[in-house]
Amino acid sequence: MPAYMQQTYRRGAHVWDTSRRRVGEVTGHEGTGLQLRLVGGALQWQADPDALRLAFPDEVHRALKQQRTGAPADDRRRRGCPECRRLRDQFADAIRSGDRAGAERVMAARGLHDFAAHWGPK
Ligand SMILES: [Zn+2]
Repeated sequence: MPAYMQQTYRRGAHVWDTSRRRVGEVTGHEGTGLQLRLVGGALQWQADPDALRLAFPDEVHRALKQQRTGAPADDRRRRGCPECRRLRDQFADAIRSGDRAGAERVMAARGLHDFAAHWGPK
């Protein structure tokens, strides 16, 4: 891992893992990967530094709160979200009909909606 990454993702730093969609704390470096632990939790995993960015303070706050209450507040909100449901159905339809390009478009739309509606700055 390049030196600037070791500086950015130093031990104790809070990072957002874009591939697993959760906040972790850097506990160590291993080869080209990073060792993370769930913020406020025990779960540990290996992460690819290319899938990471530093976490925003409110993301860390939310993760800690989730751990305390044991309830993923954002997942709960997503379940009741009509746009999430619509995009999920659209994605399933595209997959069923073998429309790969369409599925990728829906996936991108889902990511944007998810960020804007459920994660973005309020
Ligand atoms: Zn939604």
